[in-house]
Amino acid sequence: MLQLDMMIDGQAVKGTGTIDVINPATGSPFAAVQRATVDQVNEAVQSAKNAFASWSQTSDSERQTACNKLAAAIEANMPELMELVTKESGKPMGGLNGVGAGMEVGGSMAWTQFTAGLELPVDVIQDDDNARVEVHRKPLGVVASITPWNWPLLIAIWHVVPAIRTGNTVVIKPSPFTPVATTRFVELAQEVLPPGVLNLVNGEGDVGGALTTHPDIAKIVFTGSTATGRKIMESASASLKRLTLELGGNDAGIVLPDVDVKEVAPKIFGACFHNNGQTCAALKRLYVHESQYEEMCSELAKMAQQVKVGDGLAEDTELGPIQNEAQLNIVTSLAESARADGGRFLTGGKRMDREGYFFEPTIVADLTDGSRLVDEEPFGPIVPVIKYSDVDEVIARANANERGLGGSVWSSDTNKAIEFAQKLECGSAWVNQHGTIQPNAPFGGVKQSGVGVEFGTYGLEEYTSIQTLNIAK
Ligand code: NDP
Repeated sequence: MLQLDMMIDGQAVKGTGTIDVINPATGSPFAAVQRATVDQVNEAVQSAKNAFASWSQTSDSERQTACNKLAAAIEANMPELMELVTKESGKPMGGLNGVGAGMEVGGSMAWTQFTAGLELPVDVIQDDDNARVEVHRKPLGVVASITPWNWPLLIAIWHVVPAIRTGNTVVIKPSPFTPVATTRFVELAQEVLPPGVLNLVNGEGDVGGALTTHPDIAKIVFTGSTATGRKIMESASASLKRLTLELGGNDAGIVLPDVDVKEVAPKIFGACFHNNGQTCAALKRLYVHESQYEEMCSELAKMAQQVKVGDGLAEDTELGPIQNEAQLNIVTSLAESARADGGRFLTGGKRMDREGYFFEPTIVADLTDGSRLVDEEPFGPIVPVIKYSDVDEVIARANANERGLGGSVWSSDTNKAIEFAQKLECGSAWVNQHGTIQPNAPFGGVKQSGVGVEFGTYGLEEYTSIQTLNIAK
């Protein structure tokens, strides 16, 4: 079994026992990582604090070069990282529409490279006979990163790279379900970064709390559930830590009654089912006009029946297993409650009869708002298709949800779709697509989907504080 150590102050360290990492395609462990003690969390924070003194003073171009070297290290180790991502997350190497481990590792490299090239130049807002006033961006200090299990390496990169690019140092705690590829990346990064700039601890239960309540943590960046996000916000209040919280969504997709159903259905299917629906910005509630409802239902059901489900290491697999058993149980319970609510199962609806945490790709018709499957984020391969008759009313229904990460409008009339998309209460509004993210465009949620944004200069700014330098003349 693969054994991996933690990383504190540039040294590989053991903890107090190990945590098994299960391959969700088999249900059996394939790797083990070390479990940190609270003392080791404190050591990791101290090491990052020490390293901050010099890392924060490095020049912009030194940090840019370091980030480019990190991108090169990811590229040079791509096949190994892809296999680790597939084994720990279940995500296929290729995947539905090319959304798989190849995209995760390739995206990690691309995001690192792009972020390396971003600049936050000094902004001169006044320079006259009275004064010169400059706005500078300063690093914050030690950043705590807590990452989830759905896109483990890519989300680690989204947290770590902008932090170190701007002169912060980091302690990362990956999800105990998927710490492997991140640990390998942190090992590779030690060849590029000075000791203590990037530390890694693992744990379950008390380690996350020990990290986020530590007085020397200046900022917490967390991607995960809203419930944990609330606790983290509480932990942050004692010392007014900065926060970026990305807490998932229950994205609505609204199909206007003028689409070519056969043309848009495959795109919608991909938006719902890539990575088995375990993506924060997957399409999770599909609203279809009554005039096209049955046609859309039958197209989606056909695709759900045909999509190839299996072990992600097999070349032709499009969808893998659900990442962990607890999530499989959540999806199963949502399917049961959809059945009790009178949902019409067009396909799927239960755990697959094989080893691993596989669930049949499932399409449920005839539910409406108020059903758990519509109101809650399933985070799995199950999608409700909801009928509507009035376009203005459906926007209100899409907005009547506590989440606000993304949303989409689909129409053959782009201008009409743009007009409706702007009425959606969400951080990203898509037209004739859903879930597209890119390293130069800010991404984040409104309402209970989070606080702050990631990516591009908007995201980079969140790892800095402003210092206004006001020089009298
Ligand atoms: P969470 O997403 O809630 O995250 C759990 C992580 O948070 C663990 O690493 C845990 O570490 C840490 N944690 C828990 N409490 C605290 C605290 N008070 N302070 C700091 N860290 C803390 O849990 P799950 O992984 O179980 O996922 C549950 C749900 O989250 C899913 O059903 C899904 O809906 C959603 N989700 C959303 C994602 C997204 O992309 N937004 C991604 C993955 C899941 P420790 O155990 O050491 O305390």
